[in-house]
Amino acid sequence: MPIKPFPLFLSSILAALFSVLFPVSLTADPVSTAAAARQWRQANEQDIIDGFVELLRLPNVASDHVNIRRNADYILGLLNRRGFSARLLELEGSPPAVFAERRTQGADKTLMIYVHYDGQPANPDDWASDPWTPVMRNGPVERDGQIVPMKAPFDPEWRLFGRSAGDDKAPIIALNAALDALEDGGVEPSVNLKLFFEGEEEAGSPHLRDMLGKYRELLGADLWLFCDGPVHQSRRWQLSYGVRGSFGFGLTVYGPNRPLHSGHYGNWAPNPIMRLTELIGTMRDDQGNILIDSYHEQVITPSRLEMEAIEAAPAVDRQLIDELGIGRPETNERIEMAIMRPAMNLRGIRSGDVGAQSRNSIQTSATASIGLRLVPAQTPDFLREAIERHIRSQGYFVVYDAPTGEQRAAHDRIARLDWSEAGYPAYRAPFDLPIAQSIANIMNQLGDDTLIQLPTMGGSLPLYLIDEVVGAPILILPIANHDNNQHGKDENLRLQNLWDAIEIYAAIITSL
Ligand SMILES: [Zn+2]
Repeated sequence: MPIKPFPLFLSSILAALFSVLFPVSLTADPVSTAAAARQWRQANEQDIIDGFVELLRLPNVASDHVNIRRNADYILGLLNRRGFSARLLELEGSPPAVFAERRTQGADKTLMIYVHYDGQPANPDDWASDPWTPVMRNGPVERDGQIVPMKAPFDPEWRLFGRSAGDDKAPIIALNAALDALEDGGVEPSVNLKLFFEGEEEAGSPHLRDMLGKYRELLGADLWLFCDGPVHQSRRWQLSYGVRGSFGFGLTVYGPNRPLHSGHYGNWAPNPIMRLTELIGTMRDDQGNILIDSYHEQVITPSRLEMEAIEAAPAVDRQLIDELGIGRPETNERIEMAIMRPAMNLRGIRSGDVGAQSRNSIQTSATASIGLRLVPAQTPDFLREAIERHIRSQGYFVVYDAPTGEQRAAHDRIARLDWSEAGYPAYRAPFDLPIAQSIANIMNQLGDDTLIQLPTMGGSLPLYLIDEVVGAPILILPIANHDNNQHGKDENLRLQNLWDAIEIYAAIITSL
């Protein structure tokens, strides 16, 4: 056949021109995708639950080397069967991370989904049934939920009980189900998908920095979607843009070098408990404001968008006040605002004794353990210096080991500081990050504009590491019910949360 280069050349120019003028949209309509995923789910609930039960049967405490690897291998199999190229990322001394990738032709965005497959240790004696023998109940154990057969049809208020049912194996099952539903409907994702499933989150992620560093080349993405934690107490879906940082220190002040009779020596010998509480009183007021000079110098003021998002979220203060029996909160601001501030928490004080053990004596020392929550862009090093300066300004000589006799003789007031706790900064993605707003949009379309968006969670996760090492923004999308008892006994997942998650994942990965 004769070759006709010219018309071919012409047609390819026309095709290129056409695709520029009328780009083919990869994205699907989130509402119809979610509806299709729901239909598929309704027809396949038994299989989804059976798969979930199988995964929950594998004990998953990070220090249990044999079983944690069984989890990783099992999950690897699940992903390979769904078109991912999946592998274990290995690092000496660490459980493997499961990494998987699935490319979509023509996609220009890459979404990374983070989940952790390890769970908190569990004491079977505390649980109503064995933590690694999943059961279905028709309600929470605390409200007398009874075991029901693990057979469809399932009431959406039923709950599946087992360690990591909520924290954090549910997203693995929901994501797989979403992919199966899409496959069944012949719908392709609109993005390249990457998965990073950590195996030691509940052990404090001691190897996360090294793991991210070693495999950095694989881990780049336009967004890391962190699928962990519970949804809002109101049961509405929630996106969080960050977490607070965490830090802390020990503080010891001294009295006489042996305990003294409080009658013979009171009002004369310095009392270390009094000195410690007075010193702490100079650091924090009764509304939780930190009074240390320059402590807030690094703090970034919340943006207008962040403040508006908080105002738009349903207030839970009244409910919490009643539930917790606290009479009145420390501050007049709502809880979502209170956690936007840096916080100093007195974790414990130790000296002397109380009750039947109390003695009329003056103690030799008193120690406090103080926890700090950091907001952007505070750093542990800066705060450490500010705190030390403050303690010195209160007349204290600062030491890092037990004071010597000479130091005691030379200084009226001595404070020993223990900075052995490794701290880390907060992380917060900007509210106007376009890819975050796209996800918020999709979730609002699915949920009739009921999505709650909050600038930060109160708690801490080392998300800054992903920002620092991988350089990708992070968004937190939790799926578990708020009363899932994560970390406690009788952990569970409410089925409706699992069903919703399948639809949300299906919509996000096809509409982004
Ligand atoms: Zn978790």
